[in-house]
Amino acid sequence: MRILDRLIARSLPVFPRFLVRWVASQYIAGEDPAAALDTVERLSRHGARATLDLLGEEVTESGQAREIAQGYREVLSAIGGRNLPSGVSVKLSGLGVRRDPELARGLLGEIVAAAREVRRFVRIDMEDSTLTDTTLSIYRGLREDGFANVGIVLQACLRRTLEDAASLADLRPDVRVVKGIYVEPEAISLRDPEAIRESYVRLLDFLVDKGCRAAAATHDGKLIFATKEIMRRRGITPGGLEFQMLLGVRERLRDALLAAGQRVRIYVPFGKLWYEYSLRRLRENPAVAGHVTRQLFGRIFGFGRRSR
Ligand SMILES: Cc1cc2nc3c(=O)[nH]c(=O)nc-3n(C[C@H](O)[C@H](O)[C@H](O)COP(=O)(O)OP(=O)(O)OC[C@H]3O[C@@H](n4cnc5c(N)ncnc54)[C@H](O)[C@@H]3O)c2cc1C
Repeated sequence: MRILDRLIARSLPVFPRFLVRWVASQYIAGEDPAAALDTVERLSRHGARATLDLLGEEVTESGQAREIAQGYREVLSAIGGRNLPSGVSVKLSGLGVRRDPELARGLLGEIVAAAREVRRFVRIDMEDSTLTDTTLSIYRGLREDGFANVGIVLQACLRRTLEDAASLADLRPDVRVVKGIYVEPEAISLRDPEAIRESYVRLLDFLVDKGCRAAAATHDGKLIFATKEIMRRRGITPGGLEFQMLLGVRERLRDALLAAGQRVRIYVPFGKLWYEYSLRRLRENPAVAGHVTRQLFGRIFGFGRRSR
């Protein structure tokens, strides 16, 4: 399956744009903030919370970074105005961090301040390992400046991740735990799926043990089961630990969690840069290209469901 996934990922640039758009439409709320806010409202009627991601990464021009920050401030104001159960997720590379870390830090600070005004939360997404140290240090800086409405992501695949969790423990961080989407060198990253799962469970359990707020972001049935086991063992009732999923992925699993009274948050990407985002994600991680293409053929030939 891995060879097929890689072949699919390589052939993506020759897929017609409309086809990529069609596939992407399942995972992306639209180009405009209005479409994204409507998606959040629809999810909230279902009982789910959301986090909005304004697409844009690897930005190198300060003007574009400022535009993205402005887009976040506007969407936060709309979230507050409509009283929607959503925060935002921000990528530092979208704020130009590779070119100018100080600018990115300043822009993120403005977004977090705007979120605080409407009592909303900002999650700093974790990008590839070349940005891990910078991301952790910017996060610490914001917390030390007194912002409590900001959280971080830790990636179970990275060998360093438990040490990172320990080094942040004094801040009692709010952490989204993920497997990690970026393909990293084996020297710094686990490859074996079972080893990544073990690391995930260890990390989640460690964070709960240290009194941190932890969210389990995964669609992996085994990890969802393991998370519920941690909750049971530690006496955490349904709703006491958040599950997070991507828009359009495994919706039946999402609904089952909601029906069981669990707290579920959906990651909702939106924005004009959907094409670049979709291609990059799919090329970076051939397994994702595989999931998506199998779903696409399922939709065309009717042998699959829209999502599981
Ligand atoms: C809310 C949220 C936020 C995230 N934030 C980050 C982040 O900041 N940094 C980071 O590195 N990673 C992030 N990720 C991605 C994460 O690291 C994983 O790459 C991703 O969640 C897939 O791993 P999994 O645990 O779902 O398990 P997998 O074993 O990959 O997936 C389990 C099953 O879910 C389905 N599935 C999973 N992903 C998809 C998909 N994209 N399309 C269709 N079906 C799919 C498939 O059926 C698959 O068999 C985030 C994920 C979520 C859910």
